[in-house]
Amino acid sequence: MFKKYFAFLLPALAVLAACPAQALPTAPVYTYRNNQKNFLTQKLVNKEPITYCIYLSKSAREITNLQDFEDTLKLSIKLWMINTAQFIRLSGQEKELAPLLAVLEKEPNLQRLPECNFAPYKKGNLQDLDFPPSGKKVPVADLSVFFEDRFFAHMHGQEAIYPFFSLVPAPHLVLPTKYLNINPADETLFGEQARQFISARKQLLQTPNYDTKQIKPLFMEMLKAMQPFGNQRRNLVYGLQHELGHAFGLADQLPSVDNGDLLLGTVQPRRGIMDNFTTFLSCDDADGLVIVLQKALNLTNQRFTSFCQDGITFSDGMEKLSAPKQRVIPSKGGTTTRTYYPQTATNGIYLMEKSEYVNTESEESTRKIYYLFDFSRFPKGKGGFQKQRGKMKILDPNDPENRVPVGEHVTEITLGAGPQHRQTLKENYDDNGKLLSYTLEIYDEEVLTDTRAKTF
Ligand SMILES: [Zn+2]
Repeated sequence: MFKKYFAFLLPALAVLAACPAQALPTAPVYTYRNNQKNFLTQKLVNKEPITYCIYLSKSAREITNLQDFEDTLKLSIKLWMINTAQFIRLSGQEKELAPLLAVLEKEPNLQRLPECNFAPYKKGNLQDLDFPPSGKKVPVADLSVFFEDRFFAHMHGQEAIYPFFSLVPAPHLVLPTKYLNINPADETLFGEQARQFISARKQLLQTPNYDTKQIKPLFMEMLKAMQPFGNQRRNLVYGLQHELGHAFGLADQLPSVDNGDLLLGTVQPRRGIMDNFTTFLSCDDADGLVIVLQKALNLTNQRFTSFCQDGITFSDGMEKLSAPKQRVIPSKGGTTTRTYYPQTATNGIYLMEKSEYVNTESEESTRKIYYLFDFSRFPKGKGGFQKQRGKMKILDPNDPENRVPVGEHVTEITLGAGPQHRQTLKENYDDNGKLLSYTLEIYDEEVLTDTRAKTF
């Protein structure tokens, strides 16, 4: 079983070899609490038709054409499904995950609408489009795909944007041509390599998802055809797969991305297509799709073992912990560390430790400083560290903003080198995040000069 597993993964690993190995999590993207019910994973599970529309700007038409783009879009959806199914089979969990396999092995019912309806994007200026909408009333697609640079950039008040997926006001995926300009099906640029890609894509699209015997060698061909493009982020196939991951309900997995306090997926990030690292689905991406499918199927109580073979098991969409486990989230000027405990899954409580550089050089730069410190005592123009430590409680695992501090929290700020200014704050919270009392100690040149206490 393992041998087979690795044989399947080998070409993908070869592509990755140049990059440092590191592991990735699968927290569903938090905005999914909006509109959740009628989106892609739910539609797949319900075997409902999924309508989509495609808008290609003039510059997009220099990179692709409607047929080619549509084939690559379908291919990207298929790659998510067949790869995840393959991970399930090769991990020997076909029986346990049979209802999911049944979803993944069935062809999605994709229906293209003749054009995209721009009416929901009210802030957009139609003059930014190379091909204005016909004016006929067309329905809003379940998934609108825009390969263009201006309309959405200007709508968001920017000159240029990165690819993104959004559910608001309607599910739409935007791929700027400035960013995604490598089309592996471009025969003029890539010749024989492009022909191999087109052939593998055609055959894959013609092969039903359940036909694993055919799918496997075809997927190998696809990997080979994609190899010279490596993990290039400008590759259209990659861009579509990554953004579709969001459409399936998965969040970005960059180590620096703070996905709120969702207790879904793994505590520690692992590498995959959702952290812009690989061109093809990783075991972590497959873990993520299984979690969102289980949720859509109301099978969240079902356990499964991570396809990454790292000893992680999931239950209720969460990693099952037998000992405390940390996640370190680096950010500009500091880090946040969260320690999760086996009981975090039930009581939602974890330890938060935050350390960041702050300074008092300007009013703007003091913004990160905790509001209960006494600003009037701070020396001007000094930098230093602010450290916070205390337990947080997640009130709703589906809503990252819905978390509160509980118990004792200690926050300390140290400004300046040599003779320092320091303020230490101890706060006490009840189980619902209500501040009960605090004590503030102010030190100047290491001497305690003031103590203030308040009880509410
Ligand atoms: Zn993303």
